[in-house]
Amino acid sequence: MKNNHSTNDLVFIITALTPIFFVFLIFYFAWDNGAGTDRGVESAPAIADNPAAVFARPAKSFAFNLPGSAARPLKMLFFGDLMLDRHVGEKIARTGLDDIFSGFVSEFFRGYDLIGANLEGAVTDNGEHYPPAMSYDFAFHPDLIAELKNYNFNFFNIANNHLSDQGERGIEETGKNLDALGFISAGCADRKIGECSSEILALSGRKIGLAGFSMVYGLLDQNKMENAVRKLASSTDQVIVNIHWGREYEHNFNATQRSVAHKLIDAGADIVIGHHPHVVQGMEIYKGKPIFYSLGNFIFDQYFSADTQEELAVGLEIVDGGVTIDLFPLRSKSSRPELMADDERRIFFDKFVKWSEVDNGTARQVENGQLHISTK
Ligand SMILES: [Zn+2]
Repeated sequence: MKNNHSTNDLVFIITALTPIFFVFLIFYFAWDNGAGTDRGVESAPAIADNPAAVFARPAKSFAFNLPGSAARPLKMLFFGDLMLDRHVGEKIARTGLDDIFSGFVSEFFRGYDLIGANLEGAVTDNGEHYPPAMSYDFAFHPDLIAELKNYNFNFFNIANNHLSDQGERGIEETGKNLDALGFISAGCADRKIGECSSEILALSGRKIGLAGFSMVYGLLDQNKMENAVRKLASSTDQVIVNIHWGREYEHNFNATQRSVAHKLIDAGADIVIGHHPHVVQGMEIYKGKPIFYSLGNFIFDQYFSADTQEELAVGLEIVDGGVTIDLFPLRSKSSRPELMADDERRIFFDKFVKWSEVDNGTARQVENGQLHISTK
């Protein structure tokens, strides 16, 4: 009896440990394969609670050589203007950044390879404001930006009209501080195009080009812009352009935005994400590529209208052969956004369709909050 018992126990232990051992083996080989093989991957911060990020490395180990295995879906989430100074800064000093994010369940920020926003201001040492003082004068403390990692943010567009609020010194410190914190960033000061405009990284077995442009105080040099995108497209699988533009508080995008968006796509951009108007603008699909003209605010302190507190986040899932886009309309209350639901969400989508230039089929998909674009 006694013997029988221990044999049973042994069988039980082996049965229980075998799957754990294999899971360990798979993780070990996947991790070992990734180490040091791709500089691009190393420069991209891993998303801590997304174990799938471990597998976001080029397929070489046995874990990937299964028949029919391809790059896994690339998942990204983008928000509009993120500004943590002025009244938002005062609010955070009182109740903390977690209070600003308390309208979301934490799962909302899970499972993405890239989460980004337009960072509307400079990240200076100690959050200093440097002279001259201006009426709109935004600077953020690196420690505060670091806290955004808790929500899995790892990318910022910094091409906008506030990057230069703290002068050249502020621009330099922003680049240095974001690098030191492990954030990916793209963008030069308004109307400038250069090395700072783009970044290449490897995600989910793909090479991704991220570009950031700003055309608030005048037009961009079209040739420079198109060349930058063309160059990025020639060396990557996907090009995502963030662009800061358009008239403030206007829901309808204008002819200039449209013409620039089309030129970006003609030059090789796959997705165009706009911001700056502080309200949501419509969308368009041009040559099978989505353009979101403005996502509106994300975290801001423009409490003076309902429109400036209606926001849009877009989730993109890119697979070979297409992209699925989730539209997440948000309502912000005192700089605390939360997902719209029911009637409010329906009413928002009705308006969003009117601001957009899309065919009837796309409009129906927008009303359901999810779009599918086939690229095959
Ligand atoms: Zn702006």
